[in-house]
Amino acid sequence: MALVVQKYGGTSVGDAERIRAVAEHVARTRQAGNEVVVVVSAMGKFTDDLIRLAGEISQTPPPRELDMLLTAGERISMALVSMALAQLNVESASFTGSQAGIITDTDHTRAKILEIHPDRIRAALDAGLVPVIAGFQGVSVEQNITTLGRGGSDVTAVAIASALNADVCEIYTDVTGVFSADPRVVTKARRLAKVSFDEMMEMAATGGRVLMLRSVEFARRHGVPLHVRSSFTWEPGTWIVEEDPTMEEAVVAAITDDTSEAKITVGGVPDRPGVAAQLFRELANQGINVDMIVQNTGTNGMTDISFTVAKTDLVAARDCCIEVKDQLGAAEVTSDDGIGRVSIIGAGMKSSPGVTALMFETLSNNGINIEMISTSSIRISCVVRAERVGDAVRFLHTAFGLDAA
Ligand code: ASP
Ligand code: MG
Repeated sequence: MALVVQKYGGTSVGDAERIRAVAEHVARTRQAGNEVVVVVSAMGKFTDDLIRLAGEISQTPPPRELDMLLTAGERISMALVSMALAQLNVESASFTGSQAGIITDTDHTRAKILEIHPDRIRAALDAGLVPVIAGFQGVSVEQNITTLGRGGSDVTAVAIASALNADVCEIYTDVTGVFSADPRVVTKARRLAKVSFDEMMEMAATGGRVLMLRSVEFARRHGVPLHVRSSFTWEPGTWIVEEDPTMEEAVVAAITDDTSEAKITVGGVPDRPGVAAQLFRELANQGINVDMIVQNTGTNGMTDISFTVAKTDLVAARDCCIEVKDQLGAAEVTSDDGIGRVSIIGAGMKSSPGVTALMFETLSNNGINIEMISTSSIRISCVVRAERVGDAVRFLHTAFGLDAA
């Protein structure tokens, strides 16, 4: 008998009909001889609606209260799914994150899970019930209700799967798996049967929209196999698993695109030790996540530092740079929100020369200018003009032989 954690995203529980379909699938999975734990997101765009509602009351809602409000979305779903199971004579019980034993830090609206005490969930399973857990939430060490950041139900599901030592964590969504590129951008994109954790992390970090980055990190750290699949077709989707050393890896498995970032350049900074340290310390103190960084080779003792941040952090990041500009002895701070990033990802890249050259040639042959470059051992990213990102993804998808027949 396998223990299966099934996470259902917002579209999968979007209305009464979808909720009934979910309950039927849970019942089927049980009939096949498995134990099932369900984790749910809020219905459809309910979380967005709640955020909008809070905004009508206050531009700066107290984070504790915002969390209290947002967790209501998942509570609605869990109760409805449990009711739908009862209709099918499947015994179940719903649990909030707090009741499920998810203990977090006190960082409201983006809390991190510290510990999980799934005693009640295990007891429910032992009693033959299907536990239905509200995703995206926990209780802090100070006993306040917290949320885990947007998309956080994935994290709940992986964390619960790990705590219960589940055989698989199935992530049900409105797409049939992970694709070689966003099918809305590349019509010839292919579904991938299997992706390694490392590849999936790079994809999630560079614009792949299927899974939240933190959930993949968590799954990798705890060795929880993930299976991303559709709750509309129920067909097998994409497995995300440990890299299999006996297998030949795809040189390039996927191409991602991302236009959610903007670039800041601090120009004319003295080329001496400590300047970058001070700049990025200030940004870190403001809680701003920096992504790509490029520092030009200094000329005449001066240099430029460019970096990218989420567009939502652009104003705060620019203000922060302007504030430290004089201390750094910098000449100017400029920003550019017309950038986009295209990345190629593949575990086989490690052992294949020529991948970088082919990427750059493909972009250059199509008149796409590269503005910044960053690499990891299994990824190459280029910043280009935002309006060329779609073309860049399509040309690279073809160049690396990923187009479906
Ligand atoms: N409902 C939350 C959100 O929309 C959490 C989730 O869907 O995973 O961000
Ligand atoms: Mg969601």
